Amino acid sequence: MGNVCIAWASALKKLGIEPVIPPHTNKRTLELANKYSPDSICLPYKLVLGNFLQAIEKDADYVAMISSPGICRLGEYGQSIKNVLKDMGYESKYIELQLYDGFKGMYKFLTELSGVKNPITLIKAINIAVRKVFVLDKIENLFSYYRAREITVGTAEKYYNKALDMIMEADNVKSLKKAEKNAIAELKKTQIDPARDVVNVDITGEIFLVQDPFSNQNIEKELGRMGVQTKRSLTVSGFLKDAIIPKFFKKGETHLERAFRMAKPYLMRDIGGDALESVSDVAYANAKGTDGIIHVSPFTCMPEIMSQNIFPSMRENCDIPILTLIMDEQTGRAGYITRLEAFVDLMKRKKYINKKKEQVKI
Ligand code: SF4
Repeated sequence: MGNVCIAWASALKKLGIEPVIPPHTNKRTLELANKYSPDSICLPYKLVLGNFLQAIEKDADYVAMISSPGICRLGEYGQSIKNVLKDMGYESKYIELQLYDGFKGMYKFLTELSGVKNPITLIKAINIAVRKVFVLDKIENLFSYYRAREITVGTAEKYYNKALDMIMEADNVKSLKKAEKNAIAELKKTQIDPARDVVNVDITGEIFLVQDPFSNQNIEKELGRMGVQTKRSLTVSGFLKDAIIPKFFKKGETHLERAFRMAKPYLMRDIGGDALESVSDVAYANAKGTDGIIHVSPFTCMPEIMSQNIFPSMRENCDIPILTLIMDEQTGRAGYITRLEAFVDLMKRKKYINKKKEQVKI
């Protein structure tokens, strides 16, 4: 799921485990996944299974993933994946991290996986992984800033990839701080046009699709090419704040707390997946004056079907342009790009009209 493997790999290395990182999700991942998945299951399931199969091909002894007893199909992923691996005759053991067990769950999960019982070593492993997630999200936002303004297409990405390598290599808090500084300096090498009139878009929806460039068809790259600065409303760091980090260490309102507050007039409770967050993200983006918001979700994802059906009723109070994109392995590229281009045009026009109105007032 995006770059989350960079953070996990550091935690595992700290515990003496060799992380096996499968290739970035690609066409073969999907082919493998389609072959062994139930037809109508959601896209994230298929891709996670495909990632596992490719990791096993690289001799992984264990495959591990998060699970939750929640309202959507995430709770079924574990048993189903376990069955597939067993049916295929794979020896790799499947291990699960229960989301709702928070920090304690993560601690237990890593002990089970590594056999390490020393609490200091375990806390150090969790600490480096969590910190890396926050640094990666920060770098990601900065990357988006530079990509939307770069003079030569592709320059920001070149520096961003170098920045990722730097973060990947850091193996303790001190070296991570240094790597973060160097990574930011690397991104700043991008030659930009600071005066370019960019539009700002928030990206919300199902968290896997928001993070994963393969399944969202590289939406941020495409938008960057069109001079759009993107911001993910759903991030892994935001998720960690709600699910793993103890209350004591949290500052300010978390994403989930904001979701309950801002979704209220339209959705009163958690209905599974990231629906509550998606609804509230629209209200939030509207309140902070973002130029538009894009909602991405996998085909057949029930919680996000619900949130998409709530958006029209938000129109009365929220003037922000919303684009909803439902993705699956059949999504055609040409039509998808056309929709993005049309949406960007719409946002630009709206921004221009608002600017004119402001000038008239003055
Ligand atoms: S949120 Fe949607 S896509 Fe994600 S696991 Fe649940 S049903 Fe599947």
